[in-house]
Amino acid sequence: MILPAKEVRQLDKISIENLEVYAYHGVYPEENKLGQKFFLSLQLFIDTNRAVGQDDLMQSVNYGEVCFFLKDWMEKNTFCLIETVADRLAQAVLLQYPLVQRIILEVKKPNAPVSLPLESISVTVERQWHRVYVGVGSNMGNREGFIRSALLLLEQQRNCKLVRVSNLFATAPYGYTEQPEFLNGCIEVHTLQNPQQFLTTLHNIEQQLGRERTMHWGPRTIDLDILLYDDAVLDMENLTVPHIDMQNRLFVLKPLAEIAGFVRHPLLGKTIAQLCEIAEKRQN
Ligand code: ATP
Ligand code: MG
Ligand code: MG
Repeated sequence: MILPAKEVRQLDKISIENLEVYAYHGVYPEENKLGQKFFLSLQLFIDTNRAVGQDDLMQSVNYGEVCFFLKDWMEKNTFCLIETVADRLAQAVLLQYPLVQRIILEVKKPNAPVSLPLESISVTVERQWHRVYVGVGSNMGNREGFIRSALLLLEQQRNCKLVRVSNLFATAPYGYTEQPEFLNGCIEVHTLQNPQQFLTTLHNIEQQLGRERTMHWGPRTIDLDILLYDDAVLDMENLTVPHIDMQNRLFVLKPLAEIAGFVRHPLLGKTIAQLCEIAEKRQN
């Protein structure tokens, strides 16, 4: 039996339990002034293959260093909610330690200001890097310039990494054909943002680059569409993933096959390379 790639990839777990730190998070001004004790428990999921193979700490995550990083971060920042603390700190760890692919973090507040006896109050979050494929297109003005600017703006997002960029292809317009030729490509992005947050990021970039929606499938300075987000299947009011029409668009499949030919469409069960071949045959 051939296992899907994500089941083959083995992630090991480094755990830290109840690291005690003194910090100033809380809704009440006294909490921000006087501070209090917090306990942090976390699980870091990493690929330890190379570290174990070479028995080398440099290839793993130094848990002692992580503890000091956590302490330092907790002391330097102040938030009202431990929900925010947990979210931001989990992201900070993922950004600081590239080997960590997933984190489960619990922030405990043993002396939370509740006038009832209790052991502690805590918030637990789980965050990870997500692999997203995005289709990019432009058919107005300096098309390549708009696409390169979009990639730069995406790279500037703290919690997004631009990992791969396909070649750009000149393609005939789709849907409404009375408009200039397009330039289309695809990119792979790793992000800590959830699908809705990521869609908002793409919309903001489109807006910064002067995208106007006057007609559906009309001319545009830049179009950024989420094609695949991990293996997610989403049907929300403003977001459908995988992109609902990607399998019918050679201008998407051709560049996507360059950087993700082996990736399987989670609904159609075929790889992008296979979908591209089918679309090419259909066109000829
Ligand atoms: P198409 O999506 O057919 O390529 P388009 O890209 O020209 O058309 P837009 O005007 O860019 O369409 O987007 C219209 C709406 O589609 C957006 O407001 C967005 O909320 C929604 N949408 C749904 N699914 C996606 C997706 N996977 N990626 C981007 N936008 C999406
Ligand atoms: Mg589009
Ligand atoms: Mg779009």
